[in-house]
Amino acid sequence: MNPRYALDDFFIQLFQEDGPQAVTRSLDWLGAFVITENGLIVAANAAFCEVLEKPEGDLIGTPVFDHITPDEQSSMRERFASQNTTPYALKLSLGHHRIKQVMVTPHVFPVADTHYRLAAFTDVSEYERIKDSENRFKHVFGAAGIGIARVNLDGSWLECNEKLCEILGYSEENLLPLTFQDLTHPDDLDEDLHYVEEMLAGLRSTYSMQKRYRHEQGHYFWARLTVSLVRDAADHPQYFVSLIQDISAEKQAEIAAEQLNDSLAKLSMTDGLTGIGNRRRFDTALENEWRRASRHGTELALVLADIDDFKAFNDDFGHLAGDDCLKNIAAAIEAFGNRVGDCVARYGGEELAIILPGLSLEDAASVAEQCRQAVEALGIARKACGDGASVVTISLGVAAMHPDSKDAAETLIEAADKQLYRAKSSGKNKVQPTPGTG
Ligand code: GH3
Ligand code: MG
Ligand code: MG
Repeated sequence: MNPRYALDDFFIQLFQEDGPQAVTRSLDWLGAFVITENGLIVAANAAFCEVLEKPEGDLIGTPVFDHITPDEQSSMRERFASQNTTPYALKLSLGHHRIKQVMVTPHVFPVADTHYRLAAFTDVSEYERIKDSENRFKHVFGAAGIGIARVNLDGSWLECNEKLCEILGYSEENLLPLTFQDLTHPDDLDEDLHYVEEMLAGLRSTYSMQKRYRHEQGHYFWARLTVSLVRDAADHPQYFVSLIQDISAEKQAEIAAEQLNDSLAKLSMTDGLTGIGNRRRFDTALENEWRRASRHGTELALVLADIDDFKAFNDDFGHLAGDDCLKNIAAAIEAFGNRVGDCVARYGGEELAIILPGLSLEDAASVAEQCRQAVEALGIARKACGDGASVVTISLGVAAMHPDSKDAAETLIEAADKQLYRAKSSGKNKVQPTPGTG
């Protein structure tokens, strides 16, 4: 049998595991020696001498066992006795505890009445060292409390640790045929791919982002992803290493905190009694709308409403009934300020306000008139007053202007308040200026 056949097996294995370069690299170190049945070296080529760092003269005639680590000597003797010709790994001893790992392809050939052994070998020390560090990496990788994966440049998973399988809900077997793209939330994919492109283009060496992965059960969960790109000696991208941490609990707490903040913010802008905006909300909205209208050159209208003879209502029915009345009136008026930008708020004790961006005086007065009618239509009974009204009513003052950034928003309040005063002094249950009169 030609020893090359067995060597071929080794090369095939090397080729499959590490690619064609590994095969040619291994040939640089192709060494060979021939020994007798008793293990005495009768021939040693240059590569063998180089690996053992000894001149040929020092090797010929010595037992091969002198150059093998003690722990492997008995298995070597057995191998010789059995004339086994399958390739095997062997540790050569260089003295001073220095070892070289070689991959040996043995061949037995009889010459005259001696069965010589030819051992063709390659120095795989470097390969073994890498493999060893890979194993160590794998060990750490496997035990890690964070999901770790090696990912191909096209996004397919090369290998992943147990934690990642656990996070994603897949067995490794079911996960490997998929790509990270398959499991990424559509809304997060563009950002992810953008970073990948930047890495491949050499614009960054790593990236980190929060994204949603699809769990095997179909739901999405939040994760923090950190990716780095591994390149070979020639700087060609080889694969990505991705660290994936499930942050759904963190994210949920964040969302809950945001919701709490939102509701606190809303609460701080809401009037406790009526549920409409409070004075802070009114001030903020007016300030914003004033600036917006000033920027865009649009009109801004304000309606101020005040309950007529409310003091008397309180006196007659009590403060709690007064509160109910105020709530019902606020609810009735709220419906008239529901466009984007509109704001209905409790401006003062029993005074309500509606900010109406973009409305002319005429249109705002018409809204005010509808409010007046709506309150009247509530039919909240009251004792007859001096003016003979039998239900609770409101008076409304309306103003509209093209805000000027030089003026303060209070200008609009003052103008509406002046109109409210006119409505009160001209008999109440009125809108001033009266709609339709310009
Ligand atoms: P008019 O506005 O028609 O001139 O008469 P009025 O009696 O409504 O005017 P005034 O401003 O003198 O009185 C407002 C009253 O509104 C005084 C106060 O008791 C009452 N009021 C203010 N806020 C509340 C409230 O939150 N609940 C109740 N029940 N009453 C309130
Ligand atoms: Mg008042
Ligand atoms: Mg009043």
